[in-house]
Amino acid sequence: MAKQKIRQVTDEQIAQAFSGVSDTSVDQAVAERTGSDDKVGAGQAEASASTATAKPQQDMTPAAHQRYLELVKLGMRRTGAFGPRNEEPFQRNPRHNDFSLRRAYLADQAGDPNRQLDVADVDELFGLDESAPDHTTPTLVCDYCERPFDQPFVRAARVYWKNGSLMTNRDGSVDYRGQYTSLKSKATGQLVPVVAHLGDCLYKLRDANHEREKVEKNGAVYFKPVLLPALTYAGVLARIASIEEKVSTQHARQDSLGERFALKGRDEANTGESGKRYSSHIPTTPRG
Ligand SMILES: [Zn+2]
Repeated sequence: MAKQKIRQVTDEQIAQAFSGVSDTSVDQAVAERTGSDDKVGAGQAEASASTATAKPQQDMTPAAHQRYLELVKLGMRRTGAFGPRNEEPFQRNPRHNDFSLRRAYLADQAGDPNRQLDVADVDELFGLDESAPDHTTPTLVCDYCERPFDQPFVRAARVYWKNGSLMTNRDGSVDYRGQYTSLKSKATGQLVPVVAHLGDCLYKLRDANHEREKVEKNGAVYFKPVLLPALTYAGVLARIASIEEKVSTQHARQDSLGERFALKGRDEANTGESGKRYSSHIPTTPRG
């Protein structure tokens, strides 16, 4: 009787120890020997080491940690917040704490091994998407589930997982992920900004084209979703502008080619399937 009771507690402890452990390579035999609380403790320590809040006090100043906790409440560190369901913002590699990584990078830059993240660093890493419209705007609803938003839009910087530096855009500004992407409007055919709730809504909106890329890994083949980028509001406007500019440059080039080489006019050429604009000028093979 007593023995059975002890065994039950042990199973519970094992389950608890495993519940947060992301590494499936944990030795089952070791786990099964867990009568000792040390092993359970080790499992729990490993579980908490893989979460965002592992060592914030060492990584950040107290004020920065306070700010961090406020921002985390908005969900930007939630797993899958910005898309791939298993990906935590800042934590591309689940084996390391990226705050430590970023701090190590800054400490290295400053030549100070004790450099901690301060409030400005936390704000640079993530925070509110100040470029976005007010989330309480009555007409503004999620473009996936069509429900209103109950919290402000957020953004998160992309951190290079090898050294903790921030990824940047071509103009040198920090590359932020946000809750916006762009889709073609059914009504006008123009690219427009669309926005979604963090998590599943954003993921599904970014997967609107249902594009899949064939990936072969360790002999297995699978199809990886090719997602539209998750951008801040400013980021999505810049993307739309850049795509429109590219298209108009192409048209201009085509027009000038048309003038020089008597190609078909743009409007006429464009009525064909995309990718076949120049088909009439590609030499046809005997098979036609
Ligand atoms: Zn939604």
